[in-house]
Amino acid sequence: MSPKRLRRLQEDASAWPELEDDDIVAEIKSAILSKIVLVAGKDVKHANIHDWYIAAALTLRDRIVYQWFKSDRATQNHGAKRVYYLSLEFLIGRLLTDALTNMSLMRPFRMAIEDLGIDFDELRDVEPDAALGNGGLGRLAACFMESMASLAIPARGYGIRYEHGLFRQIVSDGWQEEFPEQWLLSGNPWEFERGDVVFDIQFGGHLDRIEKHGQESQTRWIPDETIQAIAYDTPIVGWRGRHVNALRLWSARAVDPMRLDTFNSGDHLGAMSEMARAQAISKFLYPSDETPAGRELRLRQEYFFVSASLQDILNRHLYTDGDLRSLPSHASIQLNDTHPSLAVPELMRLLMDKYHIGWNDALDITTKTISYTNHTLLPEALETWPVELFERMLPRHLDIIYRINVNHLAAAEKHFAADTRSQASVSLIDETGGRRVRMGHLAFVGSHRINGVSAMHSELMRETVFSDLNSLYPDRITNKTNGITFRRWLHQCNPELTSLLQDACGAAVLDEPERLRMLERLSDDPAFQQRFRAIKRTNKTALAQIIARQFGIVADPSALFDVQIKRIHEYKRQLLNAVEIVALYQAILADPQGNWTPRVKIFAGKAAASYRQAKLIIKFINDIGNVINNDPRIRDLLKVVFIPNYNVSAAEVIVPASDLSEQISTAGMEASGTGNMKLALNGAITIGTLDGANIEIAEHVGEENIYIFGMKADEVVRRRAMGLDATDVIASSPKLAGVIEAIERGVFSPDDVSRFVPIAHALRFLDYYLVSADFDDYYRTQRAVDTKWDSPEWTHSSILNVARMAWFSSDRTIREYAEDIWNIPVA
Ligand code: PLP
Repeated sequence: MSPKRLRRLQEDASAWPELEDDDIVAEIKSAILSKIVLVAGKDVKHANIHDWYIAAALTLRDRIVYQWFKSDRATQNHGAKRVYYLSLEFLIGRLLTDALTNMSLMRPFRMAIEDLGIDFDELRDVEPDAALGNGGLGRLAACFMESMASLAIPARGYGIRYEHGLFRQIVSDGWQEEFPEQWLLSGNPWEFERGDVVFDIQFGGHLDRIEKHGQESQTRWIPDETIQAIAYDTPIVGWRGRHVNALRLWSARAVDPMRLDTFNSGDHLGAMSEMARAQAISKFLYPSDETPAGRELRLRQEYFFVSASLQDILNRHLYTDGDLRSLPSHASIQLNDTHPSLAVPELMRLLMDKYHIGWNDALDITTKTISYTNHTLLPEALETWPVELFERMLPRHLDIIYRINVNHLAAAEKHFAADTRSQASVSLIDETGGRRVRMGHLAFVGSHRINGVSAMHSELMRETVFSDLNSLYPDRITNKTNGITFRRWLHQCNPELTSLLQDACGAAVLDEPERLRMLERLSDDPAFQQRFRAIKRTNKTALAQIIARQFGIVADPSALFDVQIKRIHEYKRQLLNAVEIVALYQAILADPQGNWTPRVKIFAGKAAASYRQAKLIIKFINDIGNVINNDPRIRDLLKVVFIPNYNVSAAEVIVPASDLSEQISTAGMEASGTGNMKLALNGAITIGTLDGANIEIAEHVGEENIYIFGMKADEVVRRRAMGLDATDVIASSPKLAGVIEAIERGVFSPDDVSRFVPIAHALRFLDYYLVSADFDDYYRTQRAVDTKWDSPEWTHSSILNVARMAWFSSDRTIREYAEDIWNIPVA
């Protein structure tokens, strides 16, 4: 290859696919080999699989970097507006296959690696999941980063570079155990450490008020603790390598690595205590999902990443534009949930205290730049912090919040007149039962747009938690139904289906998902149905092999694979699924010769470490599985599998192998869901409640292609108002009564008869999540699923699910954000 051509190859990744395969493969091979020698520092014959992975990732990263520079230059040249996506969580998963797919280099890389005698799949599996998130919210942030790059929207994600991501779940004797996750243990080839991008983050101390004669008094914050945030950048490549954005994650460190005086006095551990206190901030992902967060460290994490990100944003803006007053026309800051709400007072503080902009202008710039995505209306998950903690940790921010509140309450007083209840409800400070700062309210008041994540959720925002704020600021709430990136959740995780879709809808379906509609005309075509089913079967066989290898359970790929994969939470109602399994088990025992549909019930998900009932539900699922899987009378008609350590990589295997998607949350409690979209896109038929985005999925796929059951959100409210006792529904449901009695008799816990009494008790008397109330309808609907299973009608519905899911692409969601919230044109 000529030096000129080689240089072009290095600088322009898009030139690669133009070359003959042989040339590209040869080039990749030689690049990987040189990384083994020059980066791993090893003779090739001593390289292990991890060395090969690092060498492959770095070879690919080299190509991405040039695209990244090009993207940055284009943004600068056009003076384009940028999006800054602030999220305490990014549930990224692996990046190698993502980047290879988007750079259109999957095929030559695979060939190169296999030519070198390395198994590509083994190499891919060496990459640890970047699990910097708990679930849907963090995965949404990852999908959005990919979509923003694919749509060439100049954007930067900001978060924390947790040394330990979401805990590793081990299930031991049916109980969840948590172990620290170590994704950085063997190095991270994707990131660039930016030793020169470091910001001071300050905490504590007190305020000095400087009275100036005839002028507004000035407030000076004298903090008493300083730590540093250091940046790490990971390039995120968009589809077809068109555009590359960065994810900038902050790591915490002390200003000085240790106190030398303390060390020299012999207190070696004490000398490092400041470092340990600083580093704790980026040590662990906060392990809770939707349970109350009440710890100081969490608030330190929130402020740490918000302050570093805003200082970085303002620096960059000053460098490119020179005038902070133009910030709103050059930058949009999106807050992913309330965790970054401190962006409101922090931006105000920086504008006023550091850049000497007056209050009114600072507030105007802040609200025009910031917007906020709400992810939950669950009362226990709405973030609030004690005023006392703010006073101690962030006194200047509390001062600013109070002042925002004074103006805001004056407007509320005018608006609500004598209605003092509404006035109190919009206050940034909750005065009921200890004074607390309401972070959702703070984000609301400091934003020009507030969005919910599904049509129903946005409607509930207007009607419930934010109804008074909505009345005061009527045009702020908007809906942006979540989406998922099809590159990862279809093209990469289900290559065989993708190839069939290309045959059926044309290769352009990869770029224009609306083309999936063309499948509709094939949904009854027997030959197409057969190909479609064969692909599902292959994916199920692959999953069955994993299940057999890991758990010794035989899962027959011809059985219905019925899947519930998500965080374990009472509102998501894994318990309803488990109770139905027991009822089905009892029904099969009562009628062994009945025409039962063979099912494999698959669960995966983590419970927050402190969430006892959720952990008991995991044990319950495992214990009923133990009994059922080992009962010869069941003749393999029913299997229960709990796959431990659910993460993105596990989802990528389970989703394409699913027939039935369980989306059975108590109506009104799931804001959107995105697992529901992934499963439907891969042809699983949903059984679900009218909750979150299930409603929109039903509208798109058509009600004959989805199984809807259970109480609706308003019925849930009415039922709860009547009390939580479920004695009435149990009395009228012999099946449910039979299940509860079996639980109480210890059928599934012979070693500890009382183990599941808390579950039985909740089913009988504390039916807050309406497991008992919805049981009969759910059981009935499952039997309707049985009837249709494995028929041409089933395959028809499954194909129509794929055909009609295009709208749930996160590209569509991001386009809507760009148009309606960020005011950014999208090509
Ligand atoms: N966890 C992982 C690893 C995921 O991929 C997803 C998918 O969206 C979720 C959690 C969220 O699932 P759900 O929307 O079903 O709660």
